Amino acid sequence: MKKAYEGKEIKVYFDAEVCIHSGHCVKSLPTVFDVKKRPWIEADGAPVEDVMRVIDGCPSGALSYERREA
Ligand code: SF4
Repeated sequence: MKKAYEGKEIKVYFDAEVCIHSGHCVKSLPTVFDVKKRPWIEADGAPVEDVMRVIDGCPSGALSYERREA
């Protein structure tokens, strides 16, 4: 099941059942993806372009996003 993480400019979705734990997201953008924090995704933790780039690189498709209208 997907969970949503709301940011000001972007809404990030994560599906734990799909994640293969490659570590790509946490290594690429630790200010947004930090498993030690709750919630572990801080959608506003980096510029929105960086957040989208890292999500696009998720190898399993567990991460996705919806851009908010400005
Ligand atoms: S990049 Fe995707 S598959 Fe890799 S740990 Fe993050 S959510 Fe999971």
